Amino acid sequence: MNAVSRPDLYAIEGLDSTHHKAVVALGEFARDRVAPTARRRDSAAIGTVDWDLVEEARQLGGLRMGIPEDLGGLGLGNLALGYVMEELAAADPGFALILGATGLFHLPLLLSGDRRLTESYLAPFTGDTVILGCNAVAEELNGMDVVRREHAEYAVDITTARQDGDHYVIRGRKKFITNAPVARFATVMANIEGNPGSTGLTCFVIDLEWDGVVRGETHDKVGYRAAPAGELIFNDVRVPAENVIGDPLGGWDLNVTQGNLCRITCAAISTGIARHSLEHGLQWSTERRQTGKVLYEHQMSARKLADMAARVASSRALWIEAAKKADVTLPVPELEPALAKLVADEAAVFNSNMAMSLLGARSFQRTNDMERILRDSFGPRIYEGSPEALALTITDLITRQ
Ligand SMILES: Cc1cc2nc3c(=O)[nH]c(=O)nc-3n(C[C@H](O)[C@H](O)[C@H](O)COP(=O)(O)OP(=O)(O)OC[C@H]3O[C@@H](n4cnc5c(N)ncnc54)[C@H](O)[C@@H]3O)c2cc1C
Repeated sequence: MNAVSRPDLYAIEGLDSTHHKAVVALGEFARDRVAPTARRRDSAAIGTVDWDLVEEARQLGGLRMGIPEDLGGLGLGNLALGYVMEELAAADPGFALILGATGLFHLPLLLSGDRRLTESYLAPFTGDTVILGCNAVAEELNGMDVVRREHAEYAVDITTARQDGDHYVIRGRKKFITNAPVARFATVMANIEGNPGSTGLTCFVIDLEWDGVVRGETHDKVGYRAAPAGELIFNDVRVPAENVIGDPLGGWDLNVTQGNLCRITCAAISTGIARHSLEHGLQWSTERRQTGKVLYEHQMSARKLADMAARVASSRALWIEAAKKADVTLPVPELEPALAKLVADEAAVFNSNMAMSLLGARSFQRTNDMERILRDSFGPRIYEGSPEALALTITDLITRQ
């Protein structure tokens, strides 16, 4: 195993034997079951879910990866999760996101430490049927205003929560939400009325079968097409006050901690995309002959491959460093996840671009995997912190030291 190749799943270090077995099983599932069928999911009708494959993932624990073992989950930490997500993304980032978004539903509950809410809302994910979750933060206009605290007072038209006795009444429209068309449960960020912008952000756990919940448009995305995404409309949905996750007005703290953790798995996803592109570029560069030499012997192609390899190695090293630190440090680190995601997201786009160039016209055909990967590579630069949001966080932190 070297710094740019597929990890040897059996040789991964730093995991206890139960977690290691789970990573091997899910990693092999990604390579053997998810990768060969990625093209089929990509070209299926909008919103189609490969339920058979989701069921296979469920049987391996893929829908309860971050849930602690005493609650029936796999109890994977950030390092183990990162390895699984890199493998799934190298196979099909869209499919990886179905499992990732379900994990994102779990995360605020787990971070809150609220045993009652956690037990009742996580139990369905440890049973023997497929249940998906989603995490609904984004809206048409809230973007950066729910990522950077100093933007909060400028947020407009955000989903509101009005207190009415022992309930909150939720009203608003969430957009771009992975799994929204098919999820049973959502963790939802809403602003408690009376607080300017998004300064009153509060997290609620909502059953999407409750009265007043409407599933709106299913989005026709450019990439990540295996993962359904869409709107969730809340028409005065009555939510018991006991379904507030953490404290009322505590949404920002949850959002920031959750974001820092997610950035690690997102960086692992981007590393998987960058690695997949490198594999395509390498394969063609050793097959294709031009002027009597294979492509990689031409210096300009060699430079492309070397730059791609350097990006895979640095992305992986950074997400692993962030994961190891997050596994043993509280509060959750902020700098390392942001650095990892910034580098890996850029690597995903750079490497898919270079692989398209190395493969020539064949990469431009709908039948070639690279055009799917090129489309997928742009997703990570939008969610869980754009390069601009990450740059602001990193610069804040390094100028403070
Ligand atoms: C594949 C995918 C899956 C997603 N899944 C989910 C999900 O499950 N749940 C969910 O809640 N959301 C999800 N999202 C939505 C995502 O969280 C939002 O798209 C993201 O928060 C950015 O918001 P926006 O698209 O409105 O961009 P905007 O906030 O409108 O930003 C547009 C551009 O302006 C830049 N910008 C904004 N403010 C500044 C500033 N102050 N300085 C410099 N640049 C700035 C941004 O960096 C960006 O480049 C998903 C998105 C994608 C693409």
